[in-house]
Amino acid sequence: MSNELDELRADIRSLTEDLVRLLSRRLEVARRIGMVKRRHGLSIVDAKAEDELRSHILGMCDTLSLDRSFVNRILNLLFAESTRVQEAMYEEMGRGGEGGGVDDGVTTAASDDSGRNASRIRPVDVFSKARMLERTGREIIHMEIGEPRLSIPSRVRQALIDALDRGKYHYTESKGIEELRAAIADMLNARYNASLSKDEVIVTPGGRFAVYLAMLASLRPGDEVVIVEPAWPAYIDIAEFIGVKVRRLSTSLDDGWDMDVGMLKSIINSNVRMIIINYPNNPTGKIIDKDTLDVVVDIARSKDIMILSDEVYADLAFKEFRSILSYKDDSNTIMVSSFSKGPSMTGFRIGYTATASRQIVEGMSRLQSMMLTCVAEPIQYSALAALSSIDDVKSNAMIIKSRLDLICRRLLDMPVSFYRPDGAMYVFARIDVECNMKRLIDTLLESGVAVAPGNGFGSCYDRFIRISTGVDERLLSKGLDTIKDVLEKVSSRKE
Ligand code: PLP
Repeated sequence: MSNELDELRADIRSLTEDLVRLLSRRLEVARRIGMVKRRHGLSIVDAKAEDELRSHILGMCDTLSLDRSFVNRILNLLFAESTRVQEAMYEEMGRGGEGGGVDDGVTTAASDDSGRNASRIRPVDVFSKARMLERTGREIIHMEIGEPRLSIPSRVRQALIDALDRGKYHYTESKGIEELRAAIADMLNARYNASLSKDEVIVTPGGRFAVYLAMLASLRPGDEVVIVEPAWPAYIDIAEFIGVKVRRLSTSLDDGWDMDVGMLKSIINSNVRMIIINYPNNPTGKIIDKDTLDVVVDIARSKDIMILSDEVYADLAFKEFRSILSYKDDSNTIMVSSFSKGPSMTGFRIGYTATASRQIVEGMSRLQSMMLTCVAEPIQYSALAALSSIDDVKSNAMIIKSRLDLICRRLLDMPVSFYRPDGAMYVFARIDVECNMKRLIDTLLESGVAVAPGNGFGSCYDRFIRISTGVDERLLSKGLDTIKDVLEKVSSRKE
């Protein structure tokens, strides 16, 4: 028996060596393809070529008795690695990707699967640059940041102090204290007519971590997710980090940011495991209508894929908002929310996730326990108090609404187009004058206003800027004056 085992192990070893040698040859060919593409000015990612190769290879699976989804995952890893080496090669050659490098210290992440490569500039990159200018004594109005910067409810403050006084500063169950989970479940059930139990809720250090946990617990490297763009950049960052391929479904201002559900159906292949949606949306402020959401849920159910619904702006919904939780008992959905926006508790770092899938709850809870034990106990008590501070949250929402109205009113006077937000805390405006967008963002910064460039939310949106309501009306007004001046200057200047 030991002889037989030794021989089989030798076989496995030699086959694995062959595989690695083939991988090295494959990457060499990928580099050569990159050179040709570069010579002809083509994008790094060619979705059509990938799809053709994918169907050819998957066609071989039955004959070879191979599991299609296993092979599909390997294909995605191979495609991703080819993209990575081609990007690295471009970088070395001093180009930094097709979309043109972005200098002056902002980070870039290149490429999408729609045939365009784009240098993404995230809001946080502009924030870092603004901070640099501030250190040299310049005053900057921060209209790029995604936090309301309002006061926290007084009960939250008091609950934090009480928690410390009562010695509530220990480890807790990794899912979160029972009281808080039960209160979150009750609130969600009342608000969305859902039927969650406290055991289906996990308290996390912020919505961002909840998104990460949800994706990590339900996806494997090589799986695919659909992201509806424009989108909060973290979804793609997390997907790339865990080796998951992204399929982008673009929406447009001209269509009122409506989702084309026919298109959604057509981009879902057998390897897609999740659709990520975010309403009220960052950056557009769109709230999807009930009929469209019904169709999205039907598509996901019929194809047995998950929906991750990021609802962190639910407190800032200014028209009817339907949560994914209102589709009861659906164990294929995960909802993420946060205390960062409505109660303005960004720095407390607390959010939560809810799903009827026992398996995913257990998966997320295990991961959270492994990574950070639990959310700080006093912070959990503060969040509990936030749940009974409905009036404060409503009044914060009214302040944000009034700031949004101010921005929209002022933008009517400028050469821009935009969708009047249904919710969230941003206006995503398209610049309708011919200008170099990077130069526009830089000129705005030089003039004392930071805004988030649109291409951070998807490569189709480089004519957009996101204006945030994170500053008071006086500063907003001053910032909007500057935006108007700069736009007037760039439109009269010949580029
Ligand atoms: N989801 C979206 C769409 C966001 O815009 C943000 C923050 O801006 C988050 C999640 C994360 O929020 P937090 O981690 O502060 O709870």
